[in-house]
Amino acid sequence: MTTSSHRAILADLIHFAASKREAEDRMVELEELVRTYGGVAVVKTIQRRAKPDNQTFLGKGKVEELVKEAKELKVSLLVVNHTLKPQQMYNLEEALRPSKVRVWDRIDLILNIFEKHASTAEAKLEIELARLRHMGPRIYNMGEQLGRQRGGTGTRGGSGEGNTEAMKRHLRDQERMILKKLETYQGVRDRQRERRDKIGERTVALVGYTNAGKTSLLNALTKRKEYAANALFATLDTRVGTMYLPVLEGTALLSDTIGFIQGLPPALIAAFRSTLSEAIGADVVLHVIDAADEKRDEKIDVVDAILTDLGVPVDRRLRVYNKIDAIGAGSFPLPSKVVAVSAMTGAGLDSLRDAIAHRFPHGNVKSKH
Ligand code: GDP
Ligand code: MG
Repeated sequence: MTTSSHRAILADLIHFAASKREAEDRMVELEELVRTYGGVAVVKTIQRRAKPDNQTFLGKGKVEELVKEAKELKVSLLVVNHTLKPQQMYNLEEALRPSKVRVWDRIDLILNIFEKHASTAEAKLEIELARLRHMGPRIYNMGEQLGRQRGGTGTRGGSGEGNTEAMKRHLRDQERMILKKLETYQGVRDRQRERRDKIGERTVALVGYTNAGKTSLLNALTKRKEYAANALFATLDTRVGTMYLPVLEGTALLSDTIGFIQGLPPALIAAFRSTLSEAIGADVVLHVIDAADEKRDEKIDVVDAILTDLGVPVDRRLRVYNKIDAIGAGSFPLPSKVVAVSAMTGAGLDSLRDAIAHRFPHGNVKSKH
């Protein structure tokens, strides 16, 4: 991969009232995402406005400036750190097309990262589904634009509308096809799960924000050596390891799954339902929290909302505060009586094993391995 093919402008829009710190944090996160994709930021720009421009999202003057910079710096990609309306995307793309610059919003970037890291057919299908859902409104918008242009040159406006209808139908058919294929994978997973239930295998799943330390915990608890990276790395493919639970003198299967990323709309997360079903169906859903993260509590709420949305009952969830070694003196005090660990130093892992074990009925039929 040549980095020169992903020279990017990173643009954010932020309210006047937002702090400088918040603006910087958002840009750091965006830069990490772009790096995860394999891009390099050559321009980083933050525009402060009360609200986005209806037509171009960023202000007109800013867009002109970016068009110029893109040419001078041989940029190939503009990433805007928000979800853009189809009309805004269309206009930005039109403005940057002469400079051969693609335009992505935040969701485009995340989907492209997912796509890069997806290795199974199922994960690829899910991305296709998410992309279809994200792109649909844009495609309709383009159809309407074309219809309007034709209408303007004297053709009946109805023909443009007909195109839009045909496109909608095509997208609906495609979505149905993907969902049908995904159903077969779901069936396979269901059967695997039934088999595991029958032989009494305990299942534990790791969920949480990306970078919370899920993979590190999987490694620490199962002594596996999966790749843990300090990047907003999106693990799409489920990984499983075996964990020993001393209290039960038995084992549980521990699976790592997709990390949640801030700003990924629930409708898109739903596209990954099949991948997430490992987590949804587990006996214990371990919600891994980065204890040292300033946005810790906010993120906990987001994950809880997603779990509720996916139908994971509260009594199957278990919160784990990870990275306690990284908590500065006095900053971010932990709530009392929580499970607190460090995947890095190994602190608290024994208590975590016990907390997990206590979620299973004692002396049950679940097998020893
Ligand atoms: P995931 O995205 O949730 O799977 O997170 P990873 O396991 O890939 O970890 C993300 C980053 O956090 C990596 O750089 C890890 O080395 C780091 N990390 C994970 N656990 C801990 C911990 O307990 N303490 C500290 N200080 N860093 C950790
Ligand atoms: Mg991971």
